[in-house]
Amino acid sequence: MREMGLTVDPGCSWVEVKGKVHAFLSGDSSHPEMREIEGVLQGFFEKMTAAGHGDPEASFANEVEASKAEVFCGHSERLAVAYGLINTSPGMPIWVTKTLYMCESCHITMKFISKAVRREISVRDTEIFHHFKDGSCSRGDEGYRGN
Ligand SMILES: [Zn+2]
Ligand SMILES: [Zn+2]
Repeated sequence: MREMGLTVDPGCSWVEVKGKVHAFLSGDSSHPEMREIEGVLQGFFEKMTAAGHGDPEASFANEVEASKAEVFCGHSERLAVAYGLINTSPGMPIWVTKTLYMCESCHITMKFISKAVRREISVRDTEIFHHFKDGSCSRGDEGYRGN
């Protein structure tokens, strides 16, 4: 994002795992478990593409083509959720707090993950508390920043 000459708050997401809070900065690849995290996300993107949900990875990888909302989202909640999935037992709910608004692409991704792994995922962003379960959000399709 810096290469684009924009001054963007990279944003941050936190996830609580076993009583400890882990923070994820968007674009930060220095996390010791980043390889596992990216592997988990890659697996979901492939399943989503196969299920006809478009190609979220394309907008994830190519931020120049992404909408402004997506650029300002930073997608850090995806990293936090993937970390939570890796480090908690199956069936455990995932709780994430985010410093920025969630974008549409992340919203779709979270809905898909909640169904794929049968877990409840809660994401609290700056304005809204999203509760994802069985492929839908408690707030419906409202509440994320569109284009
Ligand atoms: Zn996003
Ligand atoms: Zn929502």
